[in-house]
Amino acid sequence: MSNRSINLDDHLYQYLLNVSLREHPVLAELRAATTSHPRAQMQISPEQGQFMALLIKLLGARKTLEIGVFTGYSSLTVALALPEGGKVVACDISTEFTDLGKPYWNKAGVANKIDLRIGPATDTLDALLAQGEAGTFDFAFIDADKSNYDAYYERCLKLLRPGGLIAIDNVLWSGQVARPAAAGDADTAALQALNTKLHHDERVDLSMLPVGDGLTLARKR
Ligand code: SAM
Ligand code: CA
Repeated sequence: MSNRSINLDDHLYQYLLNVSLREHPVLAELRAATTSHPRAQMQISPEQGQFMALLIKLLGARKTLEIGVFTGYSSLTVALALPEGGKVVACDISTEFTDLGKPYWNKAGVANKIDLRIGPATDTLDALLAQGEAGTFDFAFIDADKSNYDAYYERCLKLLRPGGLIAIDNVLWSGQVARPAAAGDADTAALQALNTKLHHDERVDLSMLPVGDGLTLARKR
């Protein structure tokens, strides 16, 4: 027994999956299809996806943002958890990646809930703000280029309603955030700066979870 988060070795991790994972069959197919991709490690884990789906339902979310789609596993997870009429505005710069996911969104019958916007995510978020969408989103998942995380956080905070939730991925960065960033390592430095800023950011309620590669939850006050 311990009063800190437990370390998962392979055996215990497999047990966790065996007794708790409820993965939609099309999510399982998309995950299997992504395994052979050279960037497959960018995809969130299935238990993290299940946790995010639970958050969507707890929030009663209808309108969500995703910054960083890759082959669309997290978009599909959220879309499946949303009620009829719900929406994910999904931002990525790569059609090469997102084209791999689209057939699975269709197969799962939720493609109509995913509004894919190709282009730098800061531009997409700025366009939403310019269109008067501030304060209208329930949930945002930030999982794109780490050096822009702060720009995404600030824009998502404006786009969220009070009580809305931002989930920020990879905040523990394989442990690298706990050591001084090497010269030129902009990603680690950006994550460290954002983690430090969020610690005392009075605009949000905060929890940093050792889920996956570290997941921060920030609830807009
Ligand atoms: N959430 C995805 C999942 O669970 O499968 C993984 C996303 S992956 C870690 C990061 C994605 O961010 C890549 O698909 C990449 O093309 C995208 N990206 C990188 N820079 C971006 C930018 N400036 N604007 C929007 N997307 C960007
Ligand atoms: Ca990630």
